[in-house]
Amino acid sequence: MFATLSDKLDLVFKKLRGQGVMTEDNVKDALREVRLALLEADVNFKVVKDFVEKVRSRAVGTEVLQSLAPGQQVIKIVHDELVLLMGGSEDNSLDLAAKPPVAIMLVGLQGAGKTTSCGKLAKHLKGQRKKPLLVPADVYRPAAIEQLKVLGRQLDIEVFNSLATQKPLDICREAHRYATLNGFDVIIFDTAGRHQIDDYLMEELEGIRDELAPREILFVADAMTGQEAVNVAQGFNERLGITGVILTKLDGDAKGGAALSIKAVTGKPVKFVGLGEKLDALDVFHADRLVSRILG
Ligand code: GDP
Repeated sequence: MFATLSDKLDLVFKKLRGQGVMTEDNVKDALREVRLALLEADVNFKVVKDFVEKVRSRAVGTEVLQSLAPGQQVIKIVHDELVLLMGGSEDNSLDLAAKPPVAIMLVGLQGAGKTTSCGKLAKHLKGQRKKPLLVPADVYRPAAIEQLKVLGRQLDIEVFNSLATQKPLDICREAHRYATLNGFDVIIFDTAGRHQIDDYLMEELEGIRDELAPREILFVADAMTGQEAVNVAQGFNERLGITGVILTKLDGDAKGGAALSIKAVTGKPVKFVGLGEKLDALDVFHADRLVSRILG
C-alpha cells in the first residue's frame, strides 16, 4: 500500500546509510516502489514512466544528507516533482475576465457529477458576491433539468426555465439573452453527457461552445473511474479545447492520480475537486494536498 511508501523507501535505503551519494542501483529499488505507488493511485502508465525517469535523473548522484534518511530524500524529490507536474502553485482560479454575463460550460460523461458540480460552482460564485444563472441544457434527460431546478431552489439561485422540448442551442441563445437583460454575472451551463464519447454529443457541444463563447469549459471527471478518465479527458479536450477540470468524488477511495494524468496529458489544470454530494463539498484545487494524498 502507498500508505507505507515512506516505510518502504526507508527499507530500500537502509543499506545506503553512511554512503556518500545515491547511485543508480540504490535508486532503482526505490523507484520501483514509487512506480507501483503511482500506478496504484491511478496515474497513467506513460505518465508514470516519464515521471520516474525525471526523478531518477534528479536522484542519482544526489549527496546523501546526514540530516535526512535517503528514503525521505527520495520522497521529497518525488513530492516536489509531482507538485510541479500538477502545475506547482500556479493560479487555478476561474477566468471570469470578460464582459458579463460570462459563460461557463460544464462537460463530461453521464454520472461524472456535472449537474451537482454546476450547483456547487454556483454556490461558490454566490459566495464571491456574483450573481450566477444556472442553465440546464441536457434535454435528453428531463430528470437532469429537474435535478438542477431542485438544486437551484436549495441554493436560492435562479435556474433558467429550459424545456426538454427545446434544442440545446436555442436554450443557449435564450438563456444568454435572459441573463443579459436581468443582470446576471455568470451563466453556468449544464450540458448533456453520454456513457461514452460519441460524435453527436461532441457536435452538439461544439455548437454550444461556438454560440456561447464560454470563458471556461470545465471537464468534469469522476476520480473513481481512474485511468479511463484520462482517455475521456483527452477526447473532450481534442474536440472542445477544455480550459480546466473538476475532479469529483475525491471523498471516496480514489487516490486521485487521474488528476496528475489529465494535467500531464491535456496540459489543462484541475481547478476544483468535489468532496461529497452536498453542495458545499467543493474545494479549490491545491496541488500539494493531492500529492500528499497520492503519496500517503
Ligand atoms: P451528471 O450525470 O454528470 O450530471 O452527474 P450528477 O451530478 O447527477 O452526479 C451523479 C452522482 O454522483 C450523484 O449521485 C451525485 O450526488 C454524485 N456526486 C457528484 N459529485 C460528487 C462528489 O464529489 N462526491 C460524491 N461522493 N458524490 C458525488
